[in-house]
Amino acid sequence: MALLERSEWYDYTRMTNWTPKFVSEEEVFPAMHSGMADVPLSVFDSYDEPYKISYREYVDVQRQKDAGAYSVKAALERADMYNRASPGWISAAKLHYGGVPVVEYHASLMESRFVRFAKAPGMRNMGCFGAMDENRHAQIQLAFPHEYIDKDRQFDWATQGYRTQNWGILAARNLSDDMMMTRDVVQTAIMLNFAFETGFTNLQFIGLSADAANAGDYSFAKMIQSVQSDEARHAQLGTPLLKLMMENGHEAEAQRMVDISFWRTWRLFAVLSGIPMDYYVPLEHRENSWKEFMEEWIIEQFERNLRDLGLQRPWYWDYFLEDLSEEHHGQHIGTYSWRPTLWWNPTAGVSKNEREWLEEKYPGWNDTFGKAWDVVIDNMANGRMEQTVPGTLPVICKVSNLPVVGIPFKTAKIEQITYKGENIQFGSIVDKWIFEQDPERYCRTQTIVDRFLAGKVQPADLGGALQYMGLGVVTDPADDSMGYSWVDEYRPAAAE
Ligand code: MN
Ligand code: MN
Repeated sequence: MALLERSEWYDYTRMTNWTPKFVSEEEVFPAMHSGMADVPLSVFDSYDEPYKISYREYVDVQRQKDAGAYSVKAALERADMYNRASPGWISAAKLHYGGVPVVEYHASLMESRFVRFAKAPGMRNMGCFGAMDENRHAQIQLAFPHEYIDKDRQFDWATQGYRTQNWGILAARNLSDDMMMTRDVVQTAIMLNFAFETGFTNLQFIGLSADAANAGDYSFAKMIQSVQSDEARHAQLGTPLLKLMMENGHEAEAQRMVDISFWRTWRLFAVLSGIPMDYYVPLEHRENSWKEFMEEWIIEQFERNLRDLGLQRPWYWDYFLEDLSEEHHGQHIGTYSWRPTLWWNPTAGVSKNEREWLEEKYPGWNDTFGKAWDVVIDNMANGRMEQTVPGTLPVICKVSNLPVVGIPFKTAKIEQITYKGENIQFGSIVDKWIFEQDPERYCRTQTIVDRFLAGKVQPADLGGALQYMGLGVVTDPADDSMGYSWVDEYRPAAAE
């Protein structure tokens, strides 16, 4: 039987549009789900996804990716990676596994909504592959940590994390709910595919993959590459949509969606990728600093993408460039101080050598964040451990759900407004601006501190809070990944 070339039949199969006769267009594509209600359906026929693939090609390639990743895993199980890896790398892997796999399931639901509600036939087609991609990402990232559970229970947070009310999970879930689950498919594709996936998943998946390979964790590196190769494909479904928005009077909305989602994503990744890259990954295995990764993978590429589409850089760009050298350092000392509340044992990463590296990559680090660490280290070296864990509640940002941090001895970034009689705090001018774009969307968010003050955490003390967040339930409260052995080099000086 003679087979047609793909190019001869492809457009017939991806352009499956028809004119509904028995129901109205509004019933097929309700505005709240499909978006851009004022733009005629026929306009969406011009949506041209840059990446084209047939089902036969797709399953063949995906099967090979899975086979590659799982066979590396099987081969390395005997190599005893867990027992040979540095504590810092284990911290990074556990942070990733607790935060990422279940969000991939959310993304699969998101792509499924595209399949049903996108007005562009090409986007529905891409969404179909995207939904299968994300399902695979969830499954593979639940399977890989599973083999370590008998060695280290904290790996079970991959499965358990999203069933808890842990503060870090609340932050990730809030972002996912806001950007991925509760907007029409047009807004969702701008926020998730364009802003979140095009830029930031590269960072976590390519940046961390390089660090993983350097640290000897080849199965993590291989698995994460197989995930990222899917992201690189389906992330592209946002761009042609942005083009349609720009051509059809939706420029302002496009810009607003980009500005909101870029910032929200940036602040979450400062914790998810920024902390491990600059503090957990062993010094000798670090490929680049977090800031260098950001400059290479985000700033250049994102700016170019925006320019090509006729969009502007977000209005807060200068503020963001400063935040690059600040936010994750603040979040690191914050999360380390609140270490009992984490699902992974954190690595301090502030030995003398590491501090030299930090000062070189972030000039001024020693005079600011370093000074705050001096206090922590002095207390530890003198056995005053109770003073190294804070005794008060942090201030939590209503939008990011992350603790509000600043530069020690310099600036606090807290912003406040009163809305409906309630005093509300934010971790930056941008988070405040995001809230003001749609107060009703964000005002009912209950941060972990809101829950505490509302009496939901019982008993209302540290023990009750830990229990509420799943610590002492899924795993014990977390502690320093090295058992504080890194403090030893500071003890002689502290003794004097
Ligand atoms: Mn994914
Ligand atoms: Mn994705």
